[in-house]
Amino acid sequence: MGDLFTARVGANVVNDDKLGSLEIAVESGAKVIVVLGHSDCGGIKGACTGLELGHMTQLLERVKPAIQTTNARLDNDPILSNAVGERMVGNRRYIAEISHDNAEQSADQLLSRSSILRRKVQSGEILLVPAVFNVDTGRVTFNKPK
Ligand SMILES: [Zn+2]
Repeated sequence: MGDLFTARVGANVVNDDKLGSLEIAVESGAKVIVVLGHSDCGGIKGACTGLELGHMTQLLERVKPAIQTTNARLDNDPILSNAVGERMVGNRRYIAEISHDNAEQSADQLLSRSSILRRKVQSGEILLVPAVFNVDTGRVTFNKPK
């Protein structure tokens, strides 16, 4: 009670070890899974620039669908696109938008890839919520729970 089971990974991507760790957490009594991305994320910035270096290459490849989702979302919403500004690595607002979509997609993958997590979310036994931590303000913005 009141404890955290943290499973950190660069750019909060999903892999088999993370799935297994979260399944252990919920089987041990965890009631909430927060997929917590953050603003100014080096992993997301690396994915945006197409960084290819060591094992980071395959890790950052998993962020690319979120970049595409963000760009499509901005293409379909000129007002938001204008508010976000230039789609560049140096634009913290743009990177934070990708962090938002990346957290959403990682949460979706937890559901699609783990029958244990999916069953517990569907039954209401646990809550799964994507969120983004703003490193400038310390504020966490929670998305709609799955
Ligand atoms: Zn990061």
